[in-house]
Amino acid sequence: MQQLSPSSDASLEAATQELAFAQCVQAMRRTLSTTPLGWLLIAWVGHDRIPAHLLELWIGSFAAVWVIGFLRLQWIARVGAKRAQHLHPVMGIAMLDGACWGAVVGVLMGASPMLDGWLGAVICGAAAINAPTYLTFFAAYRAQVLALWVIALLGTLVHWNQPLAMDVMLGLTLFLLLIVGYMRNISDRVVDGIRLQLRNAELAEKLRNSLHVKEQEAATDALTLLMNRRAFDDLLDGYARDQRGFAVLMLDIDHFKAVNDHHGHAVGDALLRGFAACIRGQLRGSDVCARYGGEEFVVVLPGASNVRALEVAERLCQTVAAAPLIDEPALHITVSIGVGIRHPSECVRRLMARADAAVYAAKHGGRNQVCVAE
Ligand code: GH3
Ligand code: MG
Ligand code: MG
Repeated sequence: MQQLSPSSDASLEAATQELAFAQCVQAMRRTLSTTPLGWLLIAWVGHDRIPAHLLELWIGSFAAVWVIGFLRLQWIARVGAKRAQHLHPVMGIAMLDGACWGAVVGVLMGASPMLDGWLGAVICGAAAINAPTYLTFFAAYRAQVLALWVIALLGTLVHWNQPLAMDVMLGLTLFLLLIVGYMRNISDRVVDGIRLQLRNAELAEKLRNSLHVKEQEAATDALTLLMNRRAFDDLLDGYARDQRGFAVLMLDIDHFKAVNDHHGHAVGDALLRGFAACIRGQLRGSDVCARYGGEEFVVVLPGASNVRALEVAERLCQTVAAAPLIDEPALHITVSIGVGIRHPSECVRRLMARADAAVYAAKHGGRNQVCVAE
């Protein structure tokens, strides 16, 4: 696997934390909407055992905190959960939620031994139910449990003379320590999963990009940067499958061997580059131009009429002959061009053969000219 550079490691980590945080905010919104069920449970068990005003005070405070938290989370989700911007509000909501659950101790303890025993279980249940919510943002869970524990401890101290108070608090403390310990492990693994998922997505993107570059390279002639023969043949196969009308021009530079012989291969190469640039400059964006062989080129004019095909071929022939294609040495060269217009549903290989024969005819006719295929 490719080693990521330090900067991309850092950005991967930032993206992981960002996604983990956003997932936690989403989960908090879901969990918060089920919290009132917990109030119902407490109210049902406690209504004829403890003074109504205590219960009302607890549910009233919790409801107020809940509304603030719920609205804030909705807003954060709407504007986009940015970790740097919303970290503290989210931690605050988690802690207040925990504190409200911890406050159950102060409200319910001391009414009856049965209720005191039940209390521990309910608070452990609340802490356990909230655990999955914070899977991707462990710090908020730790803060929530700490807030719950501190408030529960204060409640226990108020009722310190109750026989079961210290037992409930001890059991609760042990349970919270255990669940926080387990949660840390699970949370680390879940965040690792997010990191891996992002890394894979990043690698897949890099792979797609380099594949695209390689595909471009494989289809390009390295010397002239035109489409190469292989890509052109593929293109022609595409044309073969439909009945599109098009014209093809085969271009063969005249006496090119003599250029190499007299001026060397490097000048020959420069001339080929100049020739390619000159031809490309004369064509429309929708026209295709490819290097077909050594000093042979091919142009496809999609949808071109006989008149336009001939006009383009004549213009190319004249432009090449008009001025040197490279400055040093300022050589004049000419080109012979064969023009083939596709007959309706004609096989493209046959069309190419006709255009090739037309080039041959142009050579025989004295070069530097255009011939139209039979
Ligand atoms: P004609 O007018 O009949 O086409 O003559 P010609 O000399 O152009 O044709 P011939 O086929 O005899 O020679 C083509 C030359 O093109 C031979 C080859 O060395 C040269 N050539 C082919 N590819 C390249 C290339 O990439 N670079 C250079 N410098 N020369 C090349
Ligand atoms: Mg040739
Ligand atoms: Mg030639």
